[in-house]
Amino acid sequence: MNTQQRIEQARKTLGQDLVIFGHHYQNDAVIRHADHTGDSLELARKSGNSTAKHIVFCGVHFMGESAALLAEPGQNVYLPEPKADCVMARMAPAALLDRIMTALTADGRKVIPLTYVNSSLAVKAVCGKYGGSVCTSSNGETMLAWARTQGDAVLFVPDHKLGRNMARRLGIPETEQLILNISKNGRLVEELQNAGRLNQARLLLWPGCCAIHARFHVEHIDAVRKNAPDVQVLVHPECSPEVVAAADFAGSTSAIIKYVEEARRGSVIAIGTEINLVRRLRHRYAGEKEIFPVLDSACSDMAKVTEEKLAALLEDIVNGRACPLQIDQTQADHARRALRTMLEVCS
Ligand code: SF4
Repeated sequence: MNTQQRIEQARKTLGQDLVIFGHHYQNDAVIRHADHTGDSLELARKSGNSTAKHIVFCGVHFMGESAALLAEPGQNVYLPEPKADCVMARMAPAALLDRIMTALTADGRKVIPLTYVNSSLAVKAVCGKYGGSVCTSSNGETMLAWARTQGDAVLFVPDHKLGRNMARRLGIPETEQLILNISKNGRLVEELQNAGRLNQARLLLWPGCCAIHARFHVEHIDAVRKNAPDVQVLVHPECSPEVVAAADFAGSTSAIIKYVEEARRGSVIAIGTEINLVRRLRHRYAGEKEIFPVLDSACSDMAKVTEEKLAALLEDIVNGRACPLQIDQTQADHARRALRTMLEVCS
């Protein structure tokens, strides 16, 4: 049997007990087996509504953690490759965030932490503990606007590029924004806070970013426009504010897909996001619309999930040998609160 047949056979055996989710950045060989595809928000919602006993998440680790948080007793979440992590998520260690939150709130100032969903369960737990929440690239502005009504300032974690793009769309002046220097294990933040030098900032930004979207530069967009003057350039808001300003449109993966879907026949569209999604759209609209990447930028963590690993996992589930994702229950309550706040604010 080939890999596809092994997957089909396992699916047949597991029937309604199995559901497979796939993020848009997964490759075609994996995504063709997904029951549901989507961005982080869509997948979190759908996994929370699923009644299947076995939830398989083709994506990176934090996505599986979010699904495990929302799972009901008796439901298990599995990752075909548990080592598929997110570079950006690793840039925000929870213990450091906790330490910095302690420093920022020591004088009684109410700072609301808001984390991008691309963060560990432990970071989401810190946000829940301090009355904060979670957002995705689809609902970032809504959640940032919400967080600003909850306290004196917001600390957005971990993607400062996304944070600055959201701030720009909400009209938050740059004078109110500050990218934190988290070096020396947070001691610089403590010193600045003690000296009263952080009080003007109403939007504090953690200095992380997505390595895959950080590769896009304004020069790439200029080159695309030079070669194709009628092109429409779409980028993801994890790109820098300069790249977003140079593009015609910035949006989540779902928003990019919708834009392409609604573009008139004959449109020429360059897309600046992870290459698997761009290739899929190019293939889907071949002969109707001309679609090409701004730059060939692939996420090596997403690529760790393969069709072969999916097949092996499904067979292990059938044989009762698969290890479900375990989450730390001491963190789960706080993290669940943060995630549920997002789902309620954006319902
Ligand atoms: Fe993380 Fe960027 Fe890869 Fe998405 S594309 S999983 S944000 S490193």
